[in-house]
Amino acid sequence: MPSEFALIRRYFSRPAKSAVLGVGDDAALLQPRAGAELAVSTDLLLEGRHFRAGADARKLGHKALAVNLSDMAAMGATPRWATLGLALPAADEAWLAQFAEGFYALAERFGVDLVGGDTTRGTLAICVTILGEVPAGRALRRSGAAPGDDVWVSGELGGAALGLAHAEIESAARRLDEPEPRVRLGEGLLGIATSAIDVSDGFAQDLGHILESSGVGAIVEMELLPCPPEVRQIKDRKTRHRLILSGGDDYELVFTARKKQREAIAALSMELGLPLTRVGAIEKGNPILSVVDRNRKAVRVERGFDHFAQGAK
Ligand code: ADP
Ligand code: MG
Repeated sequence: MPSEFALIRRYFSRPAKSAVLGVGDDAALLQPRAGAELAVSTDLLLEGRHFRAGADARKLGHKALAVNLSDMAAMGATPRWATLGLALPAADEAWLAQFAEGFYALAERFGVDLVGGDTTRGTLAICVTILGEVPAGRALRRSGAAPGDDVWVSGELGGAALGLAHAEIESAARRLDEPEPRVRLGEGLLGIATSAIDVSDGFAQDLGHILESSGVGAIVEMELLPCPPEVRQIKDRKTRHRLILSGGDDYELVFTARKKQREAIAALSMELGLPLTRVGAIEKGNPILSVVDRNRKAVRVERGFDHFAQGAK
């Protein structure tokens, strides 16, 4: 069986294009650009909790990095470097080759260098830390929303949650397994958005974090929330609403912006070929999200996923 060092050399040692020093020493050496702040974020994925045993290794490689890139997007940061902690039950080379392929394919698309990590034997777990750069003082925080701001959402909501319940619906399964991090959108929103967050736990819960951090409320119109056709076709209203409002794992961005930015946001949407939909407004008052239907009647919002909630898987 190949040693830990041979595995690292074989699968995780592609040359780092933009690090002073990458994999192979006791630490990587990184040089941020002048005037940049470092944005740092970590996500831990566990077998049985975040993905099923036997999940496709290439898709896992993609997703492990994608969820981290999404955090960079939500800050308006440009991702640059990543580290990878891996616990593996065995040195399964076919698995490693597939995993590395998925990881590096996405990393290369976004100019991210894998610069280090740790590899050990254990129950399958994947921990990625991402480092990005953002012009000093300009990152998109959760705390910047103000009354009168518009609420926007990118792409579509509910597809990933549908994929979780119905793996046989191909387009939905793809949204769950291979999310597209909205990195270019996040960068484009610098100077435009007042706050942003990515949708990992569900629209209502994640917008709720913006409301808490900003000390404001919001009103959102249910029918304006964008969703894929497979979700729109669902007859049962409650199920449809639950997928759109509380389905997690879509990794779209929810952001707020002043009304005067509407044209700039439309232009950004055109430039990126990514739908950006205005779904509501920020209001003065308690951090409460009101979702209403066309007739301004309240729509019930079920809570999104919480790992520590009673009965969580
Ligand atoms: P140390 O004993 O100093 O922790 P390791 O032997 O664990 O060093 O790792 C050797 C080198 O390989 C280091 O540069 C480390 O960052 C890198 N490395 C280890 N595992 C991974 C991995 N899964 N992905 C990328 N780099 C890794
Ligand atoms: Mg080590």
